[in-house]
Amino acid sequence: VVETTEFITANELADLLGVGVNDIISVCMSIGLMITINQRLDAGTIELVAEEYGKEVKFIEAEEMDEDLTIPEDDEEDLKPRAPIITVMGHVDHGKTSLLDYIREEKVAAGEAGGITQHVGAYQVVHNDNEITFLDTPGHEAFTAMRSRGAQATDIVILVVAADDSVMPQTIEAINHAKAAGVPIVVAINKIDKEGVNPDKIKTQLSEHDVIVEEYGGKVQYAEVSAHTGQGIEDLLEKVLIEAELLELKANPDRRADGVVLEARLDKGKGIVSNILVQGGTLRVGDPFVAGPCFGRVRAMENDRGKRVKEAGPSTPVQLMGFDEMPQAGDKLIAAEDEKLAKEVANERMQIRREQAMRTTKHMTLDDISRRLALGEVSELNIIIKADVDGSIEALSGSLQKLSTDEVAVNIIHTGAGAISESDVLLASASDAIIIGFQVRPTTSARKLAENEEIDIRLFSVIYDAVDEVRDALEGLLSPEI
Ligand code: GDP
Repeated sequence: VVETTEFITANELADLLGVGVNDIISVCMSIGLMITINQRLDAGTIELVAEEYGKEVKFIEAEEMDEDLTIPEDDEEDLKPRAPIITVMGHVDHGKTSLLDYIREEKVAAGEAGGITQHVGAYQVVHNDNEITFLDTPGHEAFTAMRSRGAQATDIVILVVAADDSVMPQTIEAINHAKAAGVPIVVAINKIDKEGVNPDKIKTQLSEHDVIVEEYGGKVQYAEVSAHTGQGIEDLLEKVLIEAELLELKANPDRRADGVVLEARLDKGKGIVSNILVQGGTLRVGDPFVAGPCFGRVRAMENDRGKRVKEAGPSTPVQLMGFDEMPQAGDKLIAAEDEKLAKEVANERMQIRREQAMRTTKHMTLDDISRRLALGEVSELNIIIKADVDGSIEALSGSLQKLSTDEVAVNIIHTGAGAISESDVLLASASDAIIIGFQVRPTTSARKLAENEEIDIRLFSVIYDAVDEVRDALEGLLSPEI
């Protein structure tokens, strides 16, 4: 067995197999492929050629190959507690922005001269001597968009539900997106200042979606708040810290930094400005770094109070100047010791990214699943169901779940009534799921996104057809053994 990434050149493959490059070229010719020494080969070709030499190929992610930049696993004794990172989610108009604004103003402004904060994608507050980092962009779309790019930047989700309303479609989406990411939820029932509200109704509705607060026998922390009067906010922060303590969040501040790009934009005066969340290590002015396929060197950093800082440790958001090219939200940033190495890695990634743009599907598709199951690459099929009415959703998810076997688990990770939305596609991308639409269609933007992300969307108008098609795909796996 040999390990490699996809798209190595004929020359590199020759080295890997310990044969001459001319041999590689003639093997390729024998299967009707004319190649040159420096041509990069796709997975299928690499496998075929290796097979000729009796070798099996194990493909690994390009990022794992950047051995020199990979940060070694931290020793337990180097780990220090770090602030929890919070994303606020919930249905539109339930008060996410108001809650973020209230906490920012009250907890940041208090005691700070001027108290003006600047937008760096996140802000930090101190509650009873403990720091908490809030990501500034509420909602599950941003959260899942990041995740679909391989970045997980949230430790805890605050789920906001308005006390004068009820659990709504986006509340449920938020719950499912948080669950799919394995991120715990703390519930904030907002607008408690309003008259005649009934938080108990909401707690009951939440338990129907498996979000069970402590007084109902569950484990979920819960607070009643008002983003207008500030009532209950201290309690909410307390609950967040309790949840954080359970998670034992730690990081090693004494090493090269890694983090994630929250946002990036072009500023007329400053050039490329990006908001970074440092996750481990300490980022310092002068550090060379790589973020996705972009190279940079930290020219200057500002914290969420708009102050210049020389360094930033774990869970700290900063605005960073020093990118050569525009990174994307969700790109992982890694500081390097050596500028030359960082440049090399960035170049290589840029090239791989360009070539991967032409590469075949990497997300789960129904056509592909039997092959991937047979190869042992996957043992589950994640499905998102969108349908016209709740009755069809129940019928479909019931029948599909029954298709689970010892070899493959069918997980329904999200369901909802209505058109297939961008947020559904992002969840599918982040969780490697397929989407089944019953008597509904994707929105135009969702369809475009699905094309880009290569998400398999199947539309049906008969339940039986949907179940049949999934069953056929799963059973494809059994045929080689028969
Ligand atoms: P988002 O869409 O979830 O970000 O919700 P917003 O923060 O924009 O709030 C939606 C509306 O609810 C606004 O008119 C807010 O003023 C109002 N609102 C938010 N929080 C509260 C609250 O605690 N009490 C009351 N009475 N109104 C609130």
